[in-house]
Amino acid sequence: MLRVSRQPGGLPEIFHSLQGEGPTIGTATVFLRLATCNLACTWCDTKYTWDWDHYRYDDEVISLETASVRDSILAFGCPHLVITGGEPLLQQTHLTGLVADLKARGFYFEVETNGTLVPVPELARDIDQWNVSPKLENSGNPLDRRVLPQVLESFRQLPGAYFKFVVVEPRDVEEVCAMRDKYKLPTERIVLLPEGTTVDQVQRRSQWVSEACVKEGFRFSTRLHILLWGDQRGR
Ligand code: SF4
Repeated sequence: MLRVSRQPGGLPEIFHSLQGEGPTIGTATVFLRLATCNLACTWCDTKYTWDWDHYRYDDEVISLETASVRDSILAFGCPHLVITGGEPLLQQTHLTGLVADLKARGFYFEVETNGTLVPVPELARDIDQWNVSPKLENSGNPLDRRVLPQVLESFRQLPGAYFKFVVVEPRDVEEVCAMRDKYKLPTERIVLLPEGTTVDQVQRRSQWVSEACVKEGFRFSTRLHILLWGDQRGR
């Protein structure tokens, strides 16, 4: 069974759209959003996946057999899947069979993760791209929960892992540079993206974030889904 987020109408949050950020931005893909998270970022835009003080679990989560999830994914006819959350690796042992099944059908996989859990070997083998998003001080999570050196090292060794940082203020870039140096994160696999849930916020921050990327040799990513659709669920 997988605990999947629900869309506002109650259907599972399995939908077809464009990848909104990171190295494959703009790619048509199916999204599978899994519920629950082990962090609590102040600016999280998917709090309905984990914040049970403000959302009702039964309204927001549906438990589904993996075969049913697989059939919903296949129905879109798009062999590119982004597994996101919440923190999808909290359910990774339940994901391995689904991923192996779809891999045999030629799927390309991305996983969005907060970089606090080491992938099990079956997923490390089958996932093509890891969008690892270690959280900075601006997330409000304690350091010992948001930065786990041995987990970052595991991802550093996976060639398909990118390190995606959400930056709010210019000083966040200094924190990213310090992490790059301390944990030897490859510069060419670091992606900065501006925090923001409105077009105005994203555009304002894009100016200095893009300049920082030029200076440091990082990749820049906008938040395409915000620019196209605003802060809408299921898009
Ligand atoms: S790790 Fe991701 S899903 Fe979890 S609280 Fe932070 S932004 Fe939200």
